[in-house]
Amino acid sequence: MKKTILLLFLTCLLTSLYAQNFSSQMFYENHHNYKEKSITVKRVVHKEIIPLINNLKLSSIFTVKSLGYSLEGRSINMITIGEGETHVLLWSQMHGDESTATMALFDIFNFFSADDNLNSIREKLLNKLTMHFIPMLNPDGTEVFKRRNALFIDLNRDAERLQFPETKILKAVRDSLNPKFGFNLHDQSTRYTTGRSFKSAAISFLAPAYNYDKTINEVRSNTMKVIVNLYDELSKIIPGHIGRYSDDFEPRAFGDNMVKWGTSSVLIESGGWKDDIEKQFIRKLNFVAILTALQSIANNYYEPVNITRYEEIPENERLLFNVLFKNLTIKYNDKPYIIDVGVNVNEKNLKESSGYYFEGKVEDVGDLSVFYGYEEFDCTGMEIEPGMVYPEEFNSLVEIQKFDMDKLLSDGYTFLKLFKENIDEKYFNLPINIVVNQPDFEPKFKLDGNANFIIKKNDDIRFVIVNGFIYNPSTNTNNIKNGLILK
Ligand SMILES: [Zn+2]
Repeated sequence: MKKTILLLFLTCLLTSLYAQNFSSQMFYENHHNYKEKSITVKRVVHKEIIPLINNLKLSSIFTVKSLGYSLEGRSINMITIGEGETHVLLWSQMHGDESTATMALFDIFNFFSADDNLNSIREKLLNKLTMHFIPMLNPDGTEVFKRRNALFIDLNRDAERLQFPETKILKAVRDSLNPKFGFNLHDQSTRYTTGRSFKSAAISFLAPAYNYDKTINEVRSNTMKVIVNLYDELSKIIPGHIGRYSDDFEPRAFGDNMVKWGTSSVLIESGGWKDDIEKQFIRKLNFVAILTALQSIANNYYEPVNITRYEEIPENERLLFNVLFKNLTIKYNDKPYIIDVGVNVNEKNLKESSGYYFEGKVEDVGDLSVFYGYEEFDCTGMEIEPGMVYPEEFNSLVEIQKFDMDKLLSDGYTFLKLFKENIDEKYFNLPINIVVNQPDFEPKFKLDGNANFIIKKNDDIRFVIVNGFIYNPSTNTNNIKNGLILK
């Protein structure tokens, strides 16, 4: 009896010592209170964040330091909060087209400036940690929403040579602060799944290796432990949507080198979520993940974690298409074959970073039964044919705009012909493609071609695919964002 009581007492003691009172659910539920309202889309640029950073200078809890300038002369700043013993360094968007965490960092600044019922949580973080944030390390790449810097350099492959102002800044900050933890904040492909499941990898983590043998020293194992905490906490919110990034050693990358230099660095990769083109839901998950990780570090919740659990997190696989049409019949010389068709819709940048349009592509064809789609259609008994060109010709876009698009689409037309001297645009905000000055244009269904086709059942048109988007004639509904102008 005495033994049982003693055991019970010891268990209680251990549980209370290591009780992990994470506030992840609270961060998730209250994110809207802290969401930086001036940032609403992922193509956020340097000139939009500078006033926000300047505002932080007015608050006593933030210290803003200018770290230097990018190749094209845009300022790179560090925001510091907290007075704790443990230093943490977080940097976002070293790849210019990976902005999700940048958006979340401004939400986190709002969280720390707020005065509400989460005060005890933020006070604990501020007392235990000194947090240094560098939002948008690659402002030149961001300006054109491209991965690389102004000299086309992938900054995450410059950790050894350290030639560029952006990478020199990051290394100098790391060396001056010698932070215990680092957070390397990126975006990954939205087409990753968690393992072989159909679920998108909304967030993936990595504890980078620091050598080819992938040795686990204390610096790396601390990263793994924090990641296990993150995995457990986020699994309560988005079960099955958390992945693990490949830990192949990359000697030129920052995450890997940070571990070598003594900073436990957590890679957070923001992935995809159905219909979240602007990544606003993933931004919220970032907010939760980063604050949860900071709680893990501030309260030492990570310490008792068994690192073998890190291996439980499913590895990223690339198994998702935007749309997967399954079991279609296609005819070749009148003979039928069964195929699946995987369609992806990609964003194409215009010159200014804010502008872009969509281009739908036939990504793969054949037996795609090992893949999934954000949207899937079983097209058993249905036939695929190329889209059709409307016979009448037009002389201006204004004429086209007057046309009844529902009628055109439900009859299976995916192209209109336009005869005009000059047209610069690459797309048009109509749910149809426009073929310019090509009298003999003939639509074809082909691999890597634009995704324009119709799906029929017994001569009845079931779906019309325009530029990768779907029109459903039975409901007259479409989600077609834009058609292409083909010159
Ligand atoms: Zn990246």
